Amino acid sequence: MQTIIATDPAAKNEHYLRTLKQAGLRITPQRKVICAYLAETDRHPSAYQVYEGIAETHPEISRATVYNTLNTLQELGAIVELSFGADHTHYETNPAPHVNLICLRCHKIVDYHGDPGIDALTERVRDELGFQSAAARIDLVGFCSDCRSQRIAEIRAMAQCSSSSEQQTLGMLQ
Ligand SMILES: [Zn+2]
Ligand SMILES: [Zn+2]
Repeated sequence: MQTIIATDPAAKNEHYLRTLKQAGLRITPQRKVICAYLAETDRHPSAYQVYEGIAETHPEISRATVYNTLNTLQELGAIVELSFGADHTHYETNPAPHVNLICLRCHKIVDYHGDPGIDALTERVRDELGFQSAAARIDLVGFCSDCRSQRIAEIRAMAQCSSSSEQQTLGMLQ
């Protein structure tokens, strides 16, 4: 598998531009700005976040242009849609094999930068099943550390609440 350095913006940008060129599409100034934005970000943005981020420096680029370019890049496989239902689509902008840590509560998506063991896994499936992988995407879904501590506090509060109502109920029964 071709390994691209995970977070290098220059490599990411080159990957997008090469993908557009290979599909026979022109690198317009607008597409260039959008690709540069995607290359620089590591936050797995939604389409609106990309538009918002670009509008700060390039208010002349329309929302339709941003959305169309994202769609094109997505269809060409340069970026990948991470969907949380209809209203919550984010884009994976990192073409290197890596693991996403996806929080179910705040929808924050963070790349795991340690060795995820994907190379060993792809070798194993090739040897065992003859499957040659072309790309890899592993999502670990769960709760980030901020949300975990908030959840624990909420569960405690709920437990206290229900035990006090239980006490009330008990009190009424007595
Ligand atoms: Zn979270
Ligand atoms: Zn990612």
